[in-house]
Amino acid sequence: MRPKLTFDDICDIFEIDAQMKYFYNLADTITRETKGNLVNVRAIVEFSNYCKRNCAYCGLNCHNTTLKRYRMQPEEIIDTALQAADAGYKTVVLQGGEDPEFTADLFAQIIKEIKSKRDIAITLSAGEMTEDEYRTIKKAGCDRYLLKHETTNFEIYSQLHPGYSISDRKECLHTLKRLGFETGGGFMIGLPGQTVETIAHDLEFIASVPCDMAGIGPFIPHPQTPLEKAAPGSTDKTRRAVAIARIMLPEINLPATTSLGVLDMEERNKVFYGGANVIMKKVTPPQYRKLYEIYPVKHGKIKTIAEERAEINRLLESIGKEYD
Ligand code: SAH
Repeated sequence: MRPKLTFDDICDIFEIDAQMKYFYNLADTITRETKGNLVNVRAIVEFSNYCKRNCAYCGLNCHNTTLKRYRMQPEEIIDTALQAADAGYKTVVLQGGEDPEFTADLFAQIIKEIKSKRDIAITLSAGEMTEDEYRTIKKAGCDRYLLKHETTNFEIYSQLHPGYSISDRKECLHTLKRLGFETGGGFMIGLPGQTVETIAHDLEFIASVPCDMAGIGPFIPHPQTPLEKAAPGSTDKTRRAVAIARIMLPEINLPATTSLGVLDMEERNKVFYGGANVIMKKVTPPQYRKLYEIYPVKHGKIKTIAEERAEINRLLESIGKEYD
């Protein structure tokens, strides 16, 4: 039997360096027991950068008037998802801002169309909706929903999302779980005002839902947001949080987050040996990629979806991982 981590244990893991080798090894052992040596590679289509929300950390927030906005057409989204399936992806994540043009009925049509043409799991990541709306997309065949809670800390959440409430966000995750979605939560490391206790509460919240997946990534300042001058989150704390999540929830799916890779590619690769078992790869058509700027990212040469998939397969092989 493995001991259950208490709140104080979790805080200690962030503060005591001497134990880290033990905890990373434990997280890796558990990952191998529950997931083998396998990394699931998932395609992400960023379908719209319109957003009605005002998240203070996010480059897509509605007050960023310098950003050129785009919205993919339904046929374009479907076609991109089919190309991803043909390149070997078994899951496609459709992610966007909270764009009022994308109603639950429209998502339902898009999901049904993709599902009728390919055997591929679909994750939607499109923010907060009502229970009825979530039910509509579930009925259409949506398998998973990703809605990071961002932070469970009431004050920090309220400050970063004026007019919005953490209790609504948490409620959405409980609703998704109840409706039978594979439910993805998650949070950022390094939001201003966050302490190790805040992170411990975030981890306990993930365990309480319980989430089937958790995206844990460092905060990266975006120049066109109120947090432009804030410091980026710690990659070390991010890796510790991923390891703890794995120890608390042996079966959970944990991505090596894109934001971790943006700050430090070596740290991103190490996290596959400390709890992570998932990676997401953009398949968004190239002309939109620069515009889906949640945080600043360097964009490489334009390649096809299949070429990029082959590249990620090679990377995973080079670090000793199998992929699916
Ligand atoms: N509108 C969707 C998708 C949001 S973008 C939703 O509300 O769920 C996906 C995730 O990117 C967010 O949940 C957030 O955790 C992360 N993110 C946004 N801005 C970020 C930043 N500046 N640094 C790091 N991560 C960020």
